[in-house]
Amino acid sequence: MYDYKIINAYVVTMNADFSVIEHGCVCVQGDSIAQVCCMSESYELEAQTEIDAQGSLLLPGFINAHTHAGMSFLKGYADDVPLKTWLFEHIFQVEKQFLNPDNVKTGAALAMLEMIASGTTCFVDMYYFVEETAQLCEHIGMRAFLSQAIADFAVADAASPDIAFAHLEKLMREYEQHDLVRIIPGPHSIYTCSAEYFKTARALANRYNLPLNTHLSETAEEYQNCMEAHGKTPVEYLADLGIFEGKTIAAHCVYVSETDTEMLAEKQVAVVNNAQSNLKLVCGIAPVPAMLEKGAKVCFGTDSAVSNNSLDMYAEMKTAALVHKFNSGNARAVNARQAVFMATRGAAQSLGIEHLCGSIEPGKKADLQMVNINQIHAVPLYNVYSHIVYALSGGDVDTVFVNGRCVYLHKQFQTIDEFDVMLQAQELANKIAVEREK
Ligand SMILES: [Zn+2]
Repeated sequence: MYDYKIINAYVVTMNADFSVIEHGCVCVQGDSIAQVCCMSESYELEAQTEIDAQGSLLLPGFINAHTHAGMSFLKGYADDVPLKTWLFEHIFQVEKQFLNPDNVKTGAALAMLEMIASGTTCFVDMYYFVEETAQLCEHIGMRAFLSQAIADFAVADAASPDIAFAHLEKLMREYEQHDLVRIIPGPHSIYTCSAEYFKTARALANRYNLPLNTHLSETAEEYQNCMEAHGKTPVEYLADLGIFEGKTIAAHCVYVSETDTEMLAEKQVAVVNNAQSNLKLVCGIAPVPAMLEKGAKVCFGTDSAVSNNSLDMYAEMKTAALVHKFNSGNARAVNARQAVFMATRGAAQSLGIEHLCGSIEPGKKADLQMVNINQIHAVPLYNVYSHIVYALSGGDVDTVFVNGRCVYLHKQFQTIDEFDVMLQAQELANKIAVEREK
C-alpha cells in the first residue's frame, strides 16, 4: 500500500535516458518515489490516495539555484534603474530600516509560495536571518541550501564577520542531518568580502562537506576593478585563493574569459545563470553556450524578486533559451531539452544532490510537479520539452510534492494559508511606502 498513486500522467522522467512515459503511473511512499511505470503495469498497485493526472505532465520539481527569498517583500520597490543606483540608493537604504526577522519571514514565505505554485521544489538562497527561512522550509515544505550572507562590514543579522561566522557554524551543525535544509556559507562577493573571509568560508564549508555560495563576475565594473586591483579576473582571483577547492556555487559569471570558463569547468563549479536579472539590471549576458561547450555545470536561477521580479522558473528557462540563442547567433544553443535538464537533473548534479532529486526515478525523493497541458496554449503537442520551455508558464502548475509531501494540490496550498501571507506582505509594503514619502 503506497501513500500516493498518481495515474494517467505524461511522465517526463529526466533520467539518464530522458525516458518519457505517455501513459504513466508514479507511486510515492514516505518521502520517496517507489514506482515509475506504464499505466498497463499499474493496476495491481494500491495507495491511500489516488491522484488522476489525466491531461497533465508530471515533471521533477525545478531547482532555482539563485534566490534571495527574504527580499520578496520589496518586489517592485525600485525598478527601471541601473544596478548601482538600484543597490546603493534604494535597496541598501530600505534594508537598513526594514530588515528584521519578521519581515524576512514575510518575504521568504511569499517567495516560497510563489516558487511552489510555479513548480519549484528546491532553491539556493542567500540572505540574512537564515533560521527564519529554514523554519519556513520545514513548515511549508521546500528543499533548500540557505546561505548566510557574509561581508566585511556589519550586516543586518551580525555586528561583525566573526559573529556572523560563529552563528553560521552553529546553524550548519544544527541542520547537518535535516531532511530538507542545509545551511551554507555565503561570502557575498569579491567586492564586499575580503580574501581572508572567503578562505574562512571555504574552510568552514569543507569541514561539513557542503558548498559555498557566492556572486561572481556579475558586472563589467566588478571585472575591471578586480583586474586593476589584482591583475586577475574575478574567477582567477578566487581560484588563486583556493576557493574552488571544494563545492562552489557561483551566481552570474557574466564576465568570464576563455581560461575562466575552463577553470569553472575543471573545478566543477555550479555556475548559476540569471538571464532575466542580468538583463533587467543591464549587467550583460553570460556566455552560457560557450561555458556548456567547455563542460561547465550551468544551471538557472531567478535571482531575487527585486531584480526579476518573478520567481517563475518557466519564464527564466524561456528567457535564457532565447537570449543565449540570440547572443551566440546559434538557434541550437540552449535547446529545449537542455534547458529543462539545466532546471532539473543538471542542477541537481551541479549542486551535488543528484542522488536525492532532479529526476523521476524509484528511490529518489518525491519532488514532483504536475502541470496541466489540457489548455489552448498547450495544444497540439509534438515535443514535450518544447512545450515546457516555450509554451507553458508557472501558472499551469496544478500540484506539487516535496519530499513525498503534497504541498500544493489542484492549486490549493496544503501547508499554509496563502491569504495570510499575502495580507502581511501588503501591510508591510504599505508601511514601507509611507516611510518613503516622509
Ligand atoms: Zn543575487
